Amino acid sequence: MTQNVQEYGFQAEMEQLLHLIIHSLYSHKEIFLRELVSNASDALNKMRFIGLTEKGFVDEGQELRIDISFDEKEKRVVIKDRGLGMTQDEIIQNIGTIASSGTLRFLQEMKKDPSKKAEDLIGQFGVGFYSVFMVADEVTLRTRSYRADSVGLEWKSNGKGKFTIAEIEKPDRGTEIIFQLNEAGEEFANEYQIKSIIKKYSNFVDFPIFMGEEKVNSVTALWRKNPAEVSDEERKEFYKFVANDYSDPMGHIHLRAEAPLSYSALLFVPGSASNSLFQRPDEYHLNLYIKRVFIQSDSKDLLPQYLRFVRGVVDTEDLPLNVSREVTQSSPVMAKIRKALTNRLLKQFEDWAKDDQDTYKKFYKEFGSLLKEGVHFDFENKDRIVDLLRFKSTKTDGAELTSLADYVSRMASEQKEIYFLTGENIDALRRNPNLEYFRKNDIEVLLLDETIDDFIVPNIGTYKEKELKSIDKADLELKESKIVTPDGTDTKTKLSFLDKVKEILGDKVKDVQESKRLVDSPCSLVVAADGMNAHMERMMKMMDQNFSGVKKIFEINLANPIVANLLRLFQANENDLNLREGVTALFEGALLQEGSLVDPMEFVKKFHGYMEKATASRIIG
Ligand code: ADP
Ligand code: MG
Repeated sequence: MTQNVQEYGFQAEMEQLLHLIIHSLYSHKEIFLRELVSNASDALNKMRFIGLTEKGFVDEGQELRIDISFDEKEKRVVIKDRGLGMTQDEIIQNIGTIASSGTLRFLQEMKKDPSKKAEDLIGQFGVGFYSVFMVADEVTLRTRSYRADSVGLEWKSNGKGKFTIAEIEKPDRGTEIIFQLNEAGEEFANEYQIKSIIKKYSNFVDFPIFMGEEKVNSVTALWRKNPAEVSDEERKEFYKFVANDYSDPMGHIHLRAEAPLSYSALLFVPGSASNSLFQRPDEYHLNLYIKRVFIQSDSKDLLPQYLRFVRGVVDTEDLPLNVSREVTQSSPVMAKIRKALTNRLLKQFEDWAKDDQDTYKKFYKEFGSLLKEGVHFDFENKDRIVDLLRFKSTKTDGAELTSLADYVSRMASEQKEIYFLTGENIDALRRNPNLEYFRKNDIEVLLLDETIDDFIVPNIGTYKEKELKSIDKADLELKESKIVTPDGTDTKTKLSFLDKVKEILGDKVKDVQESKRLVDSPCSLVVAADGMNAHMERMMKMMDQNFSGVKKIFEINLANPIVANLLRLFQANENDLNLREGVTALFEGALLQEGSLVDPMEFVKKFHGYMEKATASRIIG
């Protein structure tokens, strides 16, 4: 008996989404079952919670369970839960509009990059309820809210723009989803298939799932078991369930503590970083349970932000069930658990670094950049995190990395500082002329090619009492290298040449000096002791158009043939136009090399001018 049938239109976005889902050639269509069971489980979790805090509702005391039935002849699936159900407003809100953040983000991603396959995105976000339209042409949802005055309601839709809601006779609480598998769902149209999909995806759902008399899932709070009694297989399966991941985790930590705090935790490091990990600093993946009752998915309060890639479950006895978001945020219990988990995770990474370098390398490749955030934000563990960092260096090739400890162990006894150079491109870094001195003297330099490096180096400051020092700073204590002066020049001539170069460049530079760090190259730019390095400056400019930066010191190498030629020109005629042009070109070349030449086109034009002169002189000569 249905009464008062009312018709509604889907929100515009919802229609787009439905269209996408129905028409996507998604190869894991079976997830529709996982999504519906997970919704049933969510509804039961909420009901369990309500049962503990409220009184006088529909079907009080009824067992919390899920029942799935399949009629082979009709190909009809019914998924029934004794969850909290929905009122009419709730149906419209939850099913008719894009309420769930997962769904909304799914659409945003699709709009941003339509070339992305819907398939990847469905896998990533889980589009929930609507995924059933991949395998059904029409879906009926019958529901009754737990609230004492609620009525039975029936929602129906074919997923094409409209849905109806009608009042029905429904004595029991909860929700039933009913649909007939269409051609696309043909492959699932037998009881055995349905059972195995439930086992595959929903084995760890915290409520019994029945098919007829048979309970098909295992219903164990795995994290509460003795770690020794959990098999590898079970753990992996559980990971795939909680993390919604198809592949195995990289590692896990299973913790059970009793005093002073009582909690258990089963944490996983995923096999790889998710696509959104670095773009979404607010995306966490730990679920909070209190006394086995599910409280919060993706809790932000159980781990520091830089460990947000960790997935799993934390269950504690020490919080009241009716905690609010505000309470979990400021609770000393949560803070203590968070501290313990952080500690334990860092310990795990340290163990990998020490005993299982292959795993550590994999781990660092995926999550190393996030650890660097920890140097900045986790003051308490800063030293431990710094020890976990790995960097490229002039003494490692390609993708090999070194720790600061290893760097220090390779330092010669007279070396006082840890040298580094930052920039965004490792090839350009390896060719930086400022490295010449260090190469010649066999001194190692760390090559920092991640944007975040510029921010964390000042946080590190010193390591084992050795200061981290950028090699493009003017105040490096370099051994006096043999200074070559071209024939027929004395110190006085040399000094007045340097003055002349300075006069030519005027206020474009802070100073002109003879270089001790260059071996082959004619010149380079270095920063005064208190200035910021070139990479940092470039980033500041990116953030602030008006940021003018600081003037550099122009170092020239008198052993270089071009510079030697310029010195000769200077000696013959200090106002020679070629001298002026040559000095300017060298300076602009140095700017180009460090990535801060404002007008490279103009530079190329001048360069063509020199080419013309050079080629002409060959013909005449
Ligand atoms: P999500 O589960 O990510 O919120 P879904 O599309 O799966 O997104 O579900 C949308 C909403 O519909 C849920 O948040 C819930 O409020 C409601 N809902 C779906 N299925 C049920 C159910 N079986 N019982 C009660 N509410 C449900
Ligand atoms: Mg859902």
